[in-house]
Amino acid sequence: MTLREIIDKSNKIVFFGGAGVSTESGIPDFRSEDGLYRQKYDVPPETMLSSAYFYSHTADFYRFYRDKMLPLSAQPNAAHKKLAEWERAGKLLAVVTQNIDGLHQAAGSKAVYELHGSIHRNHCLACGKSYTAQFIADSTGVPHCSCGGLIKPDVVLYGEPLDGATVQGALEAIMAADTLIVAGTSLTVYPAAGFVDYFHGKHLVLINRDATPLDGKCSLVLHQKMGEVLGALPSYLPNEK
Ligand code: NAD
Repeated sequence: MTLREIIDKSNKIVFFGGAGVSTESGIPDFRSEDGLYRQKYDVPPETMLSSAYFYSHTADFYRFYRDKMLPLSAQPNAAHKKLAEWERAGKLLAVVTQNIDGLHQAAGSKAVYELHGSIHRNHCLACGKSYTAQFIADSTGVPHCSCGGLIKPDVVLYGEPLDGATVQGALEAIMAADTLIVAGTSLTVYPAAGFVDYFHGKHLVLINRDATPLDGKCSLVLHQKMGEVLGALPSYLPNEK
């Protein structure tokens, strides 16, 4: 079956995505050729994005975070937009994403499970007051709350657990899906990568530029660019093909 035929027949699609979904919006992923992990840093990005580093080297964490993790001018691409249309058309149950950039919501998606949190939520560790990503981008040094407390992004850093309610919602959606599209992820970050094992529906589809450990288990594997593949499919909205 082609992807078009699979999508035509599916009404409970769940999309499980990673950093590769946003590269066509100009945000580098981690492990591709031009990804962040191939760039040279004195301290590896995994270390700089860890909970231990956040608390022990807070100023260095924020220097890296502001520079590399806050792409505030990025816009949703054809893939984000098509998924939002499928949700509106009643074909897609949910997007489960490892991304923290908020581009699915910017495209109009409502049911989005952000396994690794979001750059758009930040809060004071002392009083809980919320701050925008723009506030963090505009700050210098270590951002502090009006109460003097340290502000932390609601991003799941290495060494931190995933949010329980988000995990539950994501797994319930995956278990209810008739088609699971896994896309733009190297499937190397756990526990998120293990979530695809909860899928027991009909069609497991993989869209990823590079090969992944899941390729052999899928009914359809497309080693292509996400925006081009999803952009070419119908929206299924009334009055549109
Ligand atoms: P990854 O960098 O490990 O893998 C990305 C995969 O996407 C690669 O296998 C690559 O071949 C593929 N890819 C890249 N561009 C593509 C395209 N246009 N079309 C199809 N495939 C494409 O990413 P990961 O598995 O998501 O793990 C990285 C972790 O880093 C995640 O936990 C995520 O939270 C975080 N991250 C997030 C962002 C973001 O929010 N945009 C960006 C970088 C990293």
